[in-house]
Amino acid sequence: MQTRIKNLLVEKPVDSLVQVAGWIRTRRDTGSFSFLEVNDGSCLANIQVIAEGGLANYETEIRKLSAGCSVQVEGNLQVSPAKGQDIEILAASIIVVGWADPEHYPLQKKRHSFEFLREISHLRPRTNALGAVARVRSRMSYAVHTFFQERGFCQVHTPVITTSDCEGAGEMFQLTALEAGTGDPCGQEFFGRKAGLTVSGQLQAEVYALALGDVYTFGPTFRAENSNTSRHLAEFWMVEPEMAFCDLVGNMRLAEELLRYLLGDVLTNCADDMDLFDQFIEKGLLAKLRGMTEQEFAHITYTEAVDRLLQSKKKFEFQVRWGVDLQSEHERYLTEEIFRRPLIVTDYPAAIKPFYMRVSDHGRTVAAMDILVPGIGEIIGGSQREERLDVLTARMQAAGINISDYAWYLDLRRYGTAPHAGFGLGFERLIQFVTGMANIRETIPFPRTPGFAPC
Ligand code: ATP
Ligand code: MN
Repeated sequence: MQTRIKNLLVEKPVDSLVQVAGWIRTRRDTGSFSFLEVNDGSCLANIQVIAEGGLANYETEIRKLSAGCSVQVEGNLQVSPAKGQDIEILAASIIVVGWADPEHYPLQKKRHSFEFLREISHLRPRTNALGAVARVRSRMSYAVHTFFQERGFCQVHTPVITTSDCEGAGEMFQLTALEAGTGDPCGQEFFGRKAGLTVSGQLQAEVYALALGDVYTFGPTFRAENSNTSRHLAEFWMVEPEMAFCDLVGNMRLAEELLRYLLGDVLTNCADDMDLFDQFIEKGLLAKLRGMTEQEFAHITYTEAVDRLLQSKKKFEFQVRWGVDLQSEHERYLTEEIFRRPLIVTDYPAAIKPFYMRVSDHGRTVAAMDILVPGIGEIIGGSQREERLDVLTARMQAAGINISDYAWYLDLRRYGTAPHAGFGLGFERLIQFVTGMANIRETIPFPRTPGFAPC
């Protein structure tokens, strides 16, 4: 059984026989032996393997190895005399498992652009940067669950197929059952009504919050928005906690605690991968993230934010005006230039927010909160939900929503209603923030955007 390189580097069982299996990054020959750099994906680092000329397949195979070939190596782990690594393997045998024709293997030893790598999304996880993103993403997913489970939150698997479109969240992909002869181009017969892919698990999470108290859902979410930006995907993952007997203040507290926990976790547990991002992707990233784990987030109301933007005299592409949603350029100016740290914006105009957000006493605003971070803009959107049956019904009617479609949602207010609140954290925006990746398409293994879904 082979050992993972990550474990070898930690345990360093020098002077023992070890086996590793992985892919060649480079080969270089000196005199009568070769140095192989082998990576197995367990960590950023490669292990150096020394292949001496006396190996049986030295001339026939080892000297033909090139980037991308897969090998199984057995040999003695020894302290490396050269600088660059502390340990290396002196090979006793090298089995070539799979060849990779150097004439055609696309990942040669040079820097490739992320745009190019997207075109080979089946091979890009073999690069340092995308491999590091995959490990960070996995760790962050684990940390999300740890955070909530340690606090007694119950995970709810909300449905991917939905019949409620969470009005205001975005365009829904519609489902069709293209079975011959059904004459059912919209899939309406299958579920008896229009169905689509979920744009948010919130409404269903509310059902469980009003039974179990503190819950969260973490799963794929879909939006058919035709927005080709560096922060939007058609398929992305969202972390959505929902808490009963909780108001906007408790909601903000949880969101801030979650973000700071996740940043602390990745800095501690993905140190090597994070160093790579700091060095090659965003200079100063580590200092920025460390600062965030130490400093409290800033708070401002939407109304104050509009005033600050108007006072700034900065020329924006879109004009700032009370009652109009903040654009990404406004969000970024607030968090990057005015506050220079994460910023929670609360109390948005009721008219620009969905029906389920709790109306404030004067009726002009709702108990909404967005969290904005430097470099990204909005990373979290949330609110206290409207728990009053009469207010909610009136708001839905005013928004032209078919009340009978949401009878179940209103029942939650009819029977044992309670104040409750929650938010949605875009998981890829989090990964983007943590890795410094300029484009969200590098943060998910197989990005889906308009016109793009290769494998
Ligand atoms: P934006 O205004 O940035 O398009 P939104 O206000 O439509 O986002 P919400 O409905 O509030 O987004 O969703 C909650 C969170 O999900 C957002 O704060 C963001 O982090 C993430 N998110 C929303 N849409 C996308 C998308 N298309 N791709 C990736 N993440 C997204
Ligand atoms: Mn939002």
